[in-house]
Amino acid sequence: MTHPVTTLGIVGLGLIGASLAAGLKQRQAPVTIVGADQSDETLAEALRLGYIDEICDDPSALCERCDLIVLAVPVLSLEAVLTRLAPSLKQGNTRVTDVGSVKRVVTDAAETVFGERPPWLVPGHPIAGSEYSGVGAANPDLYANHQVILTPEERTDPEAVKQVSWLWEQVGATVETMTVERHDEVLAATSHLPHLLAFSLVDSLAHESEKYEIFHYAAGGFRDFTRIAASDPTMWHDIFLSNDRATLDVLDRYIDHLGQVRQALAERNGDELFSVFTRAKKARDHFSRVLDARIQKTAD
Ligand code: NAP
Repeated sequence: MTHPVTTLGIVGLGLIGASLAAGLKQRQAPVTIVGADQSDETLAEALRLGYIDEICDDPSALCERCDLIVLAVPVLSLEAVLTRLAPSLKQGNTRVTDVGSVKRVVTDAAETVFGERPPWLVPGHPIAGSEYSGVGAANPDLYANHQVILTPEERTDPEAVKQVSWLWEQVGATVETMTVERHDEVLAATSHLPHLLAFSLVDSLAHESEKYEIFHYAAGGFRDFTRIAASDPTMWHDIFLSNDRATLDVLDRYIDHLGQVRQALAERNGDELFSVFTRAKKARDHFSRVLDARIQKTAD
């Protein structure tokens, strides 16, 4: 059996980092959790809520103390965090993973800081989250029945992959692996594009509407479609700038498709509209069944 993590460091105790800590504590996982964050208030709150056992703002003490460190900061802050930890990471046996929504940016940051992709780094991404942010939004069940994608490479230490997998399994997640490239393409389509569309739709309607008056008449459909436009601007700024190429590819394909739907509407081509809606409903129903089956499987 893989030796479980005994002392875990979490850098960044916002929604994702604090939810991991809260989930481990709620499930009484046998780990001591050491927290680090740029905000003293966040750390004090995480300690008060019992998510972490200790605070440590000294990078070398953090690396010495922990066998695994999770970096849960916005993706464009990863390089700065790795730079701070670098001298101690080079000396010790600490393994590192992250939770960033884009994976290329993590491996690039590591290469810049260490001159190579270190074998102790296991890039990761929990496919779970919400439009809320900060320690106050932490949810101990955030990862239950959700997937976590790890993107190890050939030179990644298999023991480190097992340790990171063990960690996520403690909070009810299932772990899959894929390449960095595949991850960034898939997530551009299933997460980054929908967020871009939601931000853009709400922004364009807000421009057209005096004092947001139009939203007074919006109902469930609008709320469901645009919920994610309430997500944190800093986080999404970082994600789009880090995954611009893959997002532009899928956005261009989407604009093509939207053009075809527009044309069908302009030509009052009911058959074409019906076909598009029918195919989309079939795909969405399939997605719901896959999701239900996954939840059922974990419950069994
Ligand atoms: P968040 O709630 O804003 O939390 C980020 C935390 O990191 C905040 O406490 C922030 O402090 C702190 N931080 C920022 N820069 C730092 C630095 N240089 N050193 C130490 N701490 C720093 O964001 P989040 O939603 O947890 O997202 C964290 C990561 O998870 C991102 O990389 C994101 O791509 C990924 N992710 C997010 C979701 C989601 O749905 N939210 C889902 C999957 C993955 P301040 O509050 O002072 O800025």
